[in-house]
Amino acid sequence: MAVTGAVKQRLEQVLPGIRAGAEAVDRDGAFPEDQVRALADSGLLGLISSPESGGMGAGPVEFVEAMLGVAGACGSTSMVYLMHLSATAVTSAAPPSAGAAELQADLASGAKLGTLAFSEKGSRSHFWAPVSKAVRRDGESVTIGADKSWVTSATKADVYVASALAPAGEGPTDSNLYVVDREAAGVNVLGSFDGVGLRGNDSAPVRLDVEVSDGARLGNESGGFGLMMQVVLPWFCLGNSAVTLGLSRSALEAAIEHASGSRLEHLDSSLADLPTIRAYLAKGWADLTAHEALLRETAAKVAAPDDTTVLAVLTAKAACNEAALRITDTAMRVAGGAGFSKQLSIERFARDARAGFVMAPTSDALFDFAGRALCGMDLF
Ligand SMILES: Cc1cc2nc3c(=O)[nH]c(=O)nc-3n(C[C@H](O)[C@H](O)[C@H](O)COP(=O)(O)OP(=O)(O)OC[C@H]3O[C@@H](n4cnc5c(N)ncnc54)[C@H](O)[C@@H]3O)c2cc1C
Repeated sequence: MAVTGAVKQRLEQVLPGIRAGAEAVDRDGAFPEDQVRALADSGLLGLISSPESGGMGAGPVEFVEAMLGVAGACGSTSMVYLMHLSATAVTSAAPPSAGAAELQADLASGAKLGTLAFSEKGSRSHFWAPVSKAVRRDGESVTIGADKSWVTSATKADVYVASALAPAGEGPTDSNLYVVDREAAGVNVLGSFDGVGLRGNDSAPVRLDVEVSDGARLGNESGGFGLMMQVVLPWFCLGNSAVTLGLSRSALEAAIEHASGSRLEHLDSSLADLPTIRAYLAKGWADLTAHEALLRETAAKVAAPDDTTVLAVLTAKAACNEAALRITDTAMRVAGGAGFSKQLSIERFARDARAGFVMAPTSDALFDFAGRALCGMDLF
């Protein structure tokens, strides 16, 4: 079976259950344990892992389809899934010299859940510039002391991919990425998540005071920045864009259904009989489908990169995240009081979709980077 067919079939199996649990995940701010287990059992946690590791070997195009589907069912689950796949992408591209085969097999099967621990209190959304430093302890290990400000799945992930300036680092982009076991001594999750949306994503600040061996480093010494830019950035930007558009589609479809079925009995008509309402829906649909097309085109570019790919990735995330704000706002507006209340889940989709533009690189930073690229200026 082609990878795309296998992805579709597995999604069809798991999405109804993921969708059914989404309201409780949001209401209780609960980590989506059952949903993540269903993704693992279906093999979808190994979506982009290599077949040699037991994964499905899917590329960016199938990845985007899977992220759109999961996000449309449950935003919190999709963020946990995105972080796991981002960790998978970078550990596959630049395996640690110790334990790589076991790590990759565990991430593919879901025996281990992965995440990224990049953002720091000291450099905020500039995730590419850790202020923490790996300090050489002896010939073969370093200690990392870091205030990581947001780590999705903080208490549930088994493996963090954490950034720190390289021991002999000479600037903010001279960094390393390390595989850190969440159960290692010196990993302390500080607090719990209580945000406006993605309420089950278990994102929390984490204090790291850990010793890690050089064997846990991904790729070459001082290779962290390159991995963040060349591997994490494209996968994360595609996935984050898909999260916001998947949520947008669910919101807009709920609004269309509501408008079609809501009666104005005194006029013997429905909300959909109002031209203003139809125009909102049509504009929202145009916005949604244009950005879905942009995202799919960008995924194809990431699968077969050329010299336009970086600019495409930067602008796609910003454009899709901003579109999601407009589309979910439109859905709220069309559904009126029903949108404002919880009955249609539109307000949940709208709250969850707001995370996209806040997540690094933020839309504002991306517009600045893209503008620099367009003007032939250095990005950093
Ligand atoms: C739900 C959620 C889950 C997350 N999960 C993870 C995770 O698993 N791992 C991880 O490493 N991080 C994670 N993050 C962190 C995220 O990627 C950002 O780092 C974080 O949201 C930034 O918040 P901040 O308040 O520090 O932003 P700030 O940097 O303080 O930004 C404040 C404002 O300044 C603007 N700004 C900042 N820099 C620029 C610039 N160069 N140009 C123009 N404007 C700029 C921003 O756009 C924003 O409007 C998560 C965040 C959220 C919300």
